[in-house]
Amino acid sequence: MQRFTGEALYKLFRANAADIYAGRYPLEYCERLADMANEALELLSQRHVLLLVHNYQYPELQELARDAGGYIGDSYGLTLKAKETDYETIVFCSVAFMAETAAILLPDRRVLIPARPGCSLADPVDVEEIRKWKTRNPDGKVMSYINTKPDAKAESDYICTSRNAPAVVAHVRSRFPNARIYFLPDKYLAAHVMRTLQIGPGDMDVWEGACHVHKDLNEHMIENASEEHSEAELLIHPECGCTSACLARIAAGASPGIQFLSTEGMLKRARESSAKEFIVATEAGIVYRLRREIPEKVFHPVLSTAHCKFMKEITLENLLACLRDDKNEAFEVRVPPEIANKARHAIEEGMRIQ
Ligand code: SF4
Repeated sequence: MQRFTGEALYKLFRANAADIYAGRYPLEYCERLADMANEALELLSQRHVLLLVHNYQYPELQELARDAGGYIGDSYGLTLKAKETDYETIVFCSVAFMAETAAILLPDRRVLIPARPGCSLADPVDVEEIRKWKTRNPDGKVMSYINTKPDAKAESDYICTSRNAPAVVAHVRSRFPNARIYFLPDKYLAAHVMRTLQIGPGDMDVWEGACHVHKDLNEHMIENASEEHSEAELLIHPECGCTSACLARIAAGASPGIQFLSTEGMLKRARESSAKEFIVATEAGIVYRLRREIPEKVFHPVLSTAHCKFMKEITLENLLACLRDDKNEAFEVRVPPEIANKARHAIEEGMRIQ
């Protein structure tokens, strides 16, 4: 039986994705997608492969994960889900460093990725710079956001997510009061941490990195969206360029309805909040998941064209090519054991702190 049909996908995407993927889904393309999704579904089942799809991925990949018994989520959450299963092979639809994190945390599984997308936040980090900082600050602590490549993780003492970043910095400051902290690679997340903990720029060294999607989501866009949807609650990812200004507005009592949340935190908040409408400030792909899973509420992307060009290198087309040729080592994600062991230790140290 064909589980997907072009007609059904066409209707779904027209209802939930017309603004965020304008012009991408004519009926003929949906019919091709349905054929590919049906073949992928069969291959996933025959070969007992678990499909993990990041929140920012195309709607057709999210639909396939739903039907195939896979998962949609953020990179760390997806890895934890995979850990609970008995699948020996996982195919990760995300950027490369996320699949590498899964390979680090699940060394007994085979992790596949259909392409090798980079990341404008993780890629510029120069590990030599971290080593030089450590030489200058022998008692210092390096704290990296999970959006880093394995070699940067391996040079870190703690790895945090956007959710627990303030808690990890607070923990390090109380446990090692004289240690200088080097926070990388996201300057906006660092600003969010500093404002949350009320610490000054002099208290923490920061790598001046930013994500090409989130840095452009600024305060003016948030203000315009708030004026247009005055009843809506604001869900903002801490990587956004508006973080400091929005925090200042909250502190001044001007914007009580702002929540700073990871992508998974947005899903949880939207389900639990009494608000019926939300403005979403992060990569626009998650708006499709929010609309599909919480159809009784309304979601407005702050910028409907805020797409991660790296995430979108993963397509149903290249996923299918990967599944058809799943023994091909070119699709396999490998992290050298000496790097993986150090990186795993830093991740475990950070994730203990909530
Ligand atoms: S959205 Fe930004 S941080 Fe996330 S993968 Fe894309 S470039 Fe990297």
